[in-house]
Amino acid sequence: MPDVEPTLSVVIPMYNEEAVIPLLVARLRPALDRIGEDYEVVAVDDGSSDATAAVLAGQLRQWPQLRVIRLRRNSGHQSALTAGLYRARGSYVVSIDADLQDPPEVIEEMLNLARRDNLDIVYGVRNDRSTDSPFKRSTAGLYYWLMRRLAGKSVPRQAGDFRLLSRVSIEALRELPEPAPVYRLVVPWLGFPSGEVGFFREKRAAGSTKYPLSKMVRLTVDSVTSFSSAPLRLATWLGLVGVLTCLGLLVYSVAAQVAGHTVPGWTSMIVAVVFLGACQLLCLGLLGEYVARIYQAVQGRPAYFVASDSPDKKLSQPAQR
Ligand code: UDP
Ligand code: MG
Repeated sequence: MPDVEPTLSVVIPMYNEEAVIPLLVARLRPALDRIGEDYEVVAVDDGSSDATAAVLAGQLRQWPQLRVIRLRRNSGHQSALTAGLYRARGSYVVSIDADLQDPPEVIEEMLNLARRDNLDIVYGVRNDRSTDSPFKRSTAGLYYWLMRRLAGKSVPRQAGDFRLLSRVSIEALRELPEPAPVYRLVVPWLGFPSGEVGFFREKRAAGSTKYPLSKMVRLTVDSVTSFSSAPLRLATWLGLVGVLTCLGLLVYSVAAQVAGHTVPGWTSMIVAVVFLGACQLLCLGLLGEYVARIYQAVQGRPAYFVASDSPDKKLSQPAQR
């Protein structure tokens, strides 16, 4: 490990990626060596339960630039990313997925663009997702459409967590109070000069996705609630529509009473009760999501715990940010 700060850090969150690591190293190492700059690779083992730790330990002996941070338990992709970004020491930090869906050769292009145009952020943008399943493509399309509507047009389309950040932008991220922000929204929001590099999204090199539907839903809920209070306003609008409907119904029921035919009406009664009940539950649930965020913020627990970091082994304090 060089004593001087490296020019480039590459942060790779990994959760049960034993099958992918040898393939990743075989492509990433030559791609980074070719750049000809000092670099470090920060592999963040997100509490894997397979042989990821053992495979990484093996690689650690052969690759001096590799550093392994192990989290005590599975904390999720964004938290693992946070652990790596905040501990990386490079002047430029690139985050990349472990599964080779983001081609490592693009890192050089990102670095060159950042230096040439003096940019703080370079997004890797997927030009082509034909290798993803139709389900993944359509849900991802919906996600980016929603995010651009809620968080603004500065959120690039089809840019995941493959990006380059300058030291300055990482320091800006550290200033934020959130323990593990949704980076694909927070980074554009910082407003640093940014550029894009297009790439072809490849198939996962080995293993299976670590983003099941439940984690995708969680990321979407976190993304929406961390960037928009529009869902809360939904309750106000629904309430307004409800009041207007009730006013109409009031006039109608008084008129029906006067006209003397008040017995029928079971269906309308049931519809009104069921519909209003559903609206109330929906709004309560939305409110609950925000209350949960406040609750987590007040608790102030770190999003992850670092169990060990290879240069200064056996760290046992909570995560330092
Ligand atoms: N990942 C992680 N912790 C998790 C889930 C995923 O560190 O709890 C990592 C995973 O190892 C991979 C990256 O996040 O490097 C993206 O996951 P994946 O490729 O499975 O997602 P997909 O490409 O299917 O959206
Ligand atoms: Mg992937």
